[in-house]
Amino acid sequence: MSGHLSQVEISEWLAGIRAGGAERHLAECAGCAAELERAGEPFERFGTATRAWCASQTPVLWPQPAAPMARRWRRFTTWGVALAAAALLVAAPVYQHREHQRALEMARQDELLLEHVQTEVSRSAPEPMQPLEKLVAWNLPSGQSGSSQ
Ligand SMILES: [Zn+2]
Repeated sequence: MSGHLSQVEISEWLAGIRAGGAERHLAECAGCAAELERAGEPFERFGTATRAWCASQTPVLWPQPAAPMARRWRRFTTWGVALAAAALLVAAPVYQHREHQRALEMARQDELLLEHVQTEVSRSAPEPMQPLEKLVAWNLPSGQSGSSQ
């Protein structure tokens, strides 16, 4: 590098663009180091003033960004699953009770049918001939009659 640093090179140095040649020259040349310090002074003061102003301000509570769609959907799904589980807990005993009632009703109907069949089978004579049965005296032990009704 020939000569001192140009204004562009000093500005680049202040902006953080550090070329190897400029660094070497600044280490050797007190004039350029002083120029760099003088050029950077306003930035330093601006930075100090900005930090002081920021420290004096009350913190601003920025509004929270709305929950992303995925999170909202996950929350919705979680509530849906919880509601479904609760509904199942309520519905299952009701369903079981109904099934039990239906089984009882079927058993009762089966019993009635069986009773009916037994009545039909145990008849000593077909229904149209039953009035005749009453006319005939059977030799049965006392306390029992010929017809079951
Ligand atoms: Zn120089």
